[in-house]
Amino acid sequence: MENIRNFCIIAHIDHGKSTLADRLLEFTGTLTNRQMQAQVLDNMDLEREKGITIKAHAIQMNYKLDGKEYILNLIDTPGHVDFSYEVSRSIAACEGALLIVDASQGIEAQTISNLYLALEHDLEIIPVMNKIDLPHAMPEEVTDEIVDLIGCKREDVIRASAKEGIGIEDILKAVVNRIKPPKGDPKAPLQAMIFDSVFNSFRGIEVYFRVINGTIRKGEKVKFVSTGQEYNADEIGVLKLEKQPRNEIGVGNVGYLISGIKVAKEVKVGDTITHPGQEGEAIKGFENVKPMVFAGIYPVETSEFEELRASMEKLQLNDASLVWEPETSAALGFGFRCGFLGMLHMEIIQERLEREFNMTVITTVPSVQFKAYLTDGTVQDINAPSEMPDVTKTERIEEPYIKAQIISKAEYIGPIISLCMDKRGVIKNQNYLTTDRVELTFEMPLAEIVFDFFDKLKSISRGYASLDYHLIGFRESDMVKLDVMLNGDRVDALSAIVHRGKAQEWGRKLCEKLKELIPRHMFEVAIQAAIGQKIVARETISAIRKNVLAKCYGGDISRKRKLLEKQKKGKKRMRQIGTVEVPQEAFMAVLKID
Ligand code: GDP
Ligand code: MG
Repeated sequence: MENIRNFCIIAHIDHGKSTLADRLLEFTGTLTNRQMQAQVLDNMDLEREKGITIKAHAIQMNYKLDGKEYILNLIDTPGHVDFSYEVSRSIAACEGALLIVDASQGIEAQTISNLYLALEHDLEIIPVMNKIDLPHAMPEEVTDEIVDLIGCKREDVIRASAKEGIGIEDILKAVVNRIKPPKGDPKAPLQAMIFDSVFNSFRGIEVYFRVINGTIRKGEKVKFVSTGQEYNADEIGVLKLEKQPRNEIGVGNVGYLISGIKVAKEVKVGDTITHPGQEGEAIKGFENVKPMVFAGIYPVETSEFEELRASMEKLQLNDASLVWEPETSAALGFGFRCGFLGMLHMEIIQERLEREFNMTVITTVPSVQFKAYLTDGTVQDINAPSEMPDVTKTERIEEPYIKAQIISKAEYIGPIISLCMDKRGVIKNQNYLTTDRVELTFEMPLAEIVFDFFDKLKSISRGYASLDYHLIGFRESDMVKLDVMLNGDRVDALSAIVHRGKAQEWGRKLCEKLKELIPRHMFEVAIQAAIGQKIVARETISAIRKNVLAKCYGGDISRKRKLLEKQKKGKKRMRQIGTVEVPQEAFMAVLKID
């Protein structure tokens, strides 16, 4: 145990976490040059493209310092707010953290919130300033920021370049010398914390854990405390570049378990593994993760519903945070109401359905979860506009609120505050990190930021602002259901729950946007927005004139064929609603409203 060090890396996206991790693996010989394929820790295609580590993994290195052998377990953390619970569990499995800050960018919001998490768990923080090779690096300013933030000495900040291989040995020495070895009682009942799991289609779920007390041995019976399920520890081992089986994993160490579990849901991050009969207590901090954003997913072709169901079932096998149930829409037919951790998670699911399962799907307007307090004293969760109860039976509606931390250059404070106020936010704190960088804290409704808030924030701050948020509870709000009608037919899939003060403007902009997105028909199409019986906005798409058609279809053959092909492609994501053809983009039009 004296020779074990467990640590994670806290960094903002693109500050160099993956590159640095690769260097550590290379330096310790865990990874040979030949294996030095770009960014080993992010090994899902999607992750690489999006530049974020979606799922945390772990890797073990051996390192020799002053004649002593050390085992270094690096636990990777996801770098996106959608996965903050998983980050907290990874942090809880460590005694130390590398805080990586880009020398040309400085500290960002996500870094600070994860740093606070690490401090809460008493982790030793090793500050690393990366990318010092960049010509526009600002090492002195960024060092000031780091010193201010964590109260360390200037010389404690390790200067590094993951790209050039500078400072790597200093980092490894600091991991050994500054981070405490794990504590724990090898003789106590087994308590191992699950911090991650990975789906393996041949062997079932691989469970990644950190032993807090006791020892886990191959072949014995284990029990997961939160689910009460028992399994046989068919294989245990440590994670190098490949899995290396072992007969036992002792106190303080990190390892994997394979026990034939087929369904991701049975493995909950934060759960405790113990021995049935002589059970260790549940480790503190466990939570059942709850979806934050809900949306309908429908097949473009109604006939593909069963195929979509099969695909969703397969997705759920390896994504425990995805929840869904069948739903029907008058407009879209049979589909699923799905719950996601956030918008990024939703995009990932949609992309995976398309790439891995070759499905073409329509996603409807995302919504947060509201709570309706009814006059009969019951409380109802509302995950979709169609679930809004009758106003006469509703005492009040509550919506989820978040605390948002935004870090930006001081010159953008004005526009950021106006943006947040426009999103019903209230400023709570303003804190200068340096003369030029400020941290703003707001309380605002989650519903206002799940859509395009982050993009707007980026654009008004020329990319300089960063955002982090977490849920702080539910608050009463005057929410109404806004319906959209096409030629008089209510289209349930276009409804949204919006704040009354914004409903009219929302309706007007949505109608305008739909007018842009819905193609012209042979007849006039009326687009209306309504609250209850009251029409609050209207747009009209005029009919196609005959001569336009004649022009299109009269000309030469190849042009006609091209046009038809184009039309066919466009059709792929069209849905016939009543007499009107509506493209997929229309169902997400709300996301594009300014
Ligand atoms: P992550 O999102 O934190 O995992 O960041 P990556 O490791 O993927 O790095 C983001 C980008 O920064 C990549 O293009 C890297 O090549 C680059 N990068 C990482 N470390 C350094 C460094 O020390 N110097 C320079 N110049 N670029 C770096
Ligand atoms: Mg990365």
